[in-house]
Amino acid sequence: MPTPPPISQGQSEPDLIIRSSAVHGAGCYTLSPIVAGTRILEYMGPHLSKSAADERYAERDITYLFSVGDHGEVIDGFGAAMFINHHCSPNCQTEEDEERIFILALRDIAAGEELTYEYHLHDSDQDDQPCFCNAPNCRGTMFSVAEVRRRKKLGLPLTLRKPTRQSSPA
Ligand SMILES: [Zn+2]
Repeated sequence: MPTPPPISQGQSEPDLIIRSSAVHGAGCYTLSPIVAGTRILEYMGPHLSKSAADERYAERDITYLFSVGDHGEVIDGFGAAMFINHHCSPNCQTEEDEERIFILALRDIAAGEELTYEYHLHDSDQDDQPCFCNAPNCRGTMFSVAEVRRRKKLGLPLTLRKPTRQSSPA
């Protein structure tokens, strides 16, 4: 299990751990309560152009790229933030500040909760991005609403999973 690097956002730093997640693979959990509005951590990593990143990861299925700025740059994530999973009913959101990305608490978060935010994917390296979050309002995909519209129009692959607990006979 990788150890998250120290988080130096000043003030009181929440205790974060990476462990296996109910949502997907590994997730990022807090061991201490977090107050709504807290900047929890930064999405750390080197900045690359999207084309350099595409070249670097041409053979790889899983990447941790985060679009930043207006010039097609991405952050090639490493550290705790890259383990934060997408959720359709998230407790965090991302905030861009001078080409840096921070993870912000959307609401008070209890100790032991997994941190999540909406990915709003629009320029995915994968054909399809089904969501497994199982929130009652799950949209079934990690693509943004605009990207869902675009993919439907172009007839691109698009899985809209239904939350399994709410499955009803079709
Ligand atoms: Zn979902």
